[in-house]
Amino acid sequence: MADIIQLLPDHVANQIAAGEVVQRPASVVKELMENAIDAGASLIKLIIKDAGKTLIQVIDNGKGMSVTDARLSFERHATSKIRSADDLFQLHTKGFRGEALASIAAIAHVELKTKQEQEEVGTCIEIEGSNVISQEVVVTPKGTSIAVKNLFFNIPARRNFLKSNPVETRHIIDEFHRVVLAHPSIGFVMFHNGSESFNLPESNYRQRIVNVFGSKTNEKLVPVEEDTEVLKVSGFIGKPEFAKKTRGEQFFFVNDRYIKSAYLNHAIGSAYEGLLKDGTHASYFLNLTVDPQTIDINIHPTKTEIKFDDEHTLYAILRSAVKHSLGQFNIAPVLDFDRDSNLDTPYSYQQNKMPSIEVDNSFNPFKEEKGASTTVSNQTYKKGEGASWEGLYVGLESKGTKTQRDFSEVQFESDQSETSIFDEANQIEQKQSTYQVHNKYLISKIKSGMLVIDQNRAHQRVLYEEFLQHMTVKEAMSQQLLFPLELHFSPQEIEIINQLKNDLEHTGFVFKSVNKELVEITGVPVSVPESEVSIILEQLISDVEHEVPDSNFSATDLLAKSMAKSLAIKTGQSLNRVEQEHLVNTLFACKEPNVSPVNKTTFITMTVDELDRKFV
Ligand code: ADP
Ligand code: MG
Repeated sequence: MADIIQLLPDHVANQIAAGEVVQRPASVVKELMENAIDAGASLIKLIIKDAGKTLIQVIDNGKGMSVTDARLSFERHATSKIRSADDLFQLHTKGFRGEALASIAAIAHVELKTKQEQEEVGTCIEIEGSNVISQEVVVTPKGTSIAVKNLFFNIPARRNFLKSNPVETRHIIDEFHRVVLAHPSIGFVMFHNGSESFNLPESNYRQRIVNVFGSKTNEKLVPVEEDTEVLKVSGFIGKPEFAKKTRGEQFFFVNDRYIKSAYLNHAIGSAYEGLLKDGTHASYFLNLTVDPQTIDINIHPTKTEIKFDDEHTLYAILRSAVKHSLGQFNIAPVLDFDRDSNLDTPYSYQQNKMPSIEVDNSFNPFKEEKGASTTVSNQTYKKGEGASWEGLYVGLESKGTKTQRDFSEVQFESDQSETSIFDEANQIEQKQSTYQVHNKYLISKIKSGMLVIDQNRAHQRVLYEEFLQHMTVKEAMSQQLLFPLELHFSPQEIEIINQLKNDLEHTGFVFKSVNKELVEITGVPVSVPESEVSIILEQLISDVEHEVPDSNFSATDLLAKSMAKSLAIKTGQSLNRVEQEHLVNTLFACKEPNVSPVNKTTFITMTVDELDRKFV
C-alpha cells in the first residue's frame, strides 16, 4: 500500500497555528504590542480602523530588525528570545514561541517596515496569506511598523464570526489596558478611526492609571506596598465606596505580565469583606513580583493563567497587604471641600414633577447619615447626590414602609385599555383584582383563573416598549434640570456615550457638552430620576461593552433594554393597589406582554381547572 502521510505545506500549518494565536483583532494588538516592548521601544503607537477589522498597525521606536531578521521573523518558530527550552524558566521577554508573526501573516495582509539605528535605510516586506509579495529597501525611521490589514481575509468563516465593532473595540481596549498598565515607563498612543483614544506619556504607575481611567480616578486610589521574601506586591486598590457594579478595573500583573487568577481575586475580595455594597466589585491594579523559577507560565499563546508554586502563601500575603492598606489609609469617604452647599438642592425639588409629601418616619436627624458622601459611582455632587440617592431607598425595601418613589406619577403616562382576558365585571365593581406576594409577584384574577406576574420583568417590558417608542418616533419628553449634572467617565466610556448620544437624546437626555472625561447633562427623560442618571449610564456602558451581539444588534434596542433594566420596579418593592393595577394594565397593553425585553417569561396563568386538579 502506498504511503499516505504527508507534511502539511507551511501556509496550511501557519493557518492552523493562527487559529490558536489569533482569535480576534485584539489578539493581534496584544502580539504586536508585546513585540514592540520586547524590542525596547520607549514609545509605541497603536492605530486601529473599524475595530481592527480593516487595520491594526503598531509603530515602535525600538531596536528594529536587520534585513535577514525582517524576513525570518515571519517564519514559524523564528524567535530571537529563547535558544533552548531551559530559557523558558528565565523569561524576561513577552514572546518566546516565535509564532505570532507567522500566524498573523498567514491570515492577513501584512506590511512590515523596520530599520535598525545604525543603518541608513530599512526594509519593507509585504506578505499576503503567507506569500511574500515584495521586499524592498525603504527610508523609514528607527524602529518597526507592522500594519495588519483585512484580518481573516482568507478565512471567511472566521471573519464572519467576529463580533460587532463595539465589542471588538472593547476587546482591543482591554488588551491595550493590560499592556499599558504593565508598562508605565513606556509612552503609548492609540488612534481609532482617525481620532486619538489614548495619549499616555511615560509616567509613574499612579499617573498611568489616572491617564487611562480618567482624572477622577486619582482620589479613588489607595497604595499597596508589601515586600516579602517570596512575593513583592505593589500598586493600588480602589476605595470601597468607589466599587463598581461591573468588574472592569481589576488587574493583576505577575512579573509585568497580565494574568487572571480567580484565586488571588478571591484574596482581594476577602480583604474587602464587609466594606462593599452587595453586587459591587473593588478596583485593583496590583503588580506581583516573584522569582520566575517559582511560576509556570502556561505556554499556550493566549492563556493568561499562570501556576504558582505556593499559592496559599501568596493568598495570605496579598490579603493582608490589601487589608493593611485599607486600614492604614483611612478608607472613610473623602470630604469634598470644593462643594458649594448652596447647590445642595433637596431631592424633592430636583425633579420637575408635582410636589408630593414624603415623610420618612424613621428619619432621625441625629443619626449618622450613612450614605452621606459615598458618591454613586462617578457623580460630582458628592454629598447631595449620594444622600439623595440613598434617601430614595431608605425604609423602602428594608423597613417595609410604603414606596417613596412616586411611582404612579412617573411611570404611567400611557392610559391604555386592558385586554379582555380580565374579568371586566370585577373591574367595574372596583374590587381589588390584584394582590402582591412577597413584594415580587402580582396575582391577578382573570376570567379563566389567575395570572402570576413577575413585577420586575413586567415593568421592564412596559418601560422597554415605552423607550423604544420614544426613540423611534423621536418625541420623548425631557425634564430640564435645575443644575446641570456633571458626570465623570473614562475616555473609552465617553466614546461609547458619543456613539449613543443621538439615541439618548431621543429618549429625552439633553447633553450640554461631552468632552474628554466629563459629560454635562441639562435634561433627562421624564421617567428618569436625576439621582439615577449616573447609574443608568454606567449600566448602559457596561451593557454595550458586554453585549453579545446577534445579527439584529441595534444601539436603540440596547439602550431601551438597558434603561428598562435600570429603572424597572425591583423585586422587593412593595406596590400599592393602584400601582399594581397600573402595572398589570400597561403590561397587557404592550405588544409582547409575555416576555421581558431579554425574553424571560413575565407571567404565567393558572386556570381554575388546574387549581381544581390540585385539590382532588
Ligand atoms: P516571538 O515574539 O515569540 O519571538 P514573534 O513571531 O512575535 O515571536 O516575533 C518573531 C521575532 O521577530 C521576534 O523574536 C523578534 O526578534 C522579531 N520582532 C518582531 N517584532 C519586532 C519588533 N517590533 N521590533 C523588533 N523585532 C521584532
Ligand atoms: Mg512576539
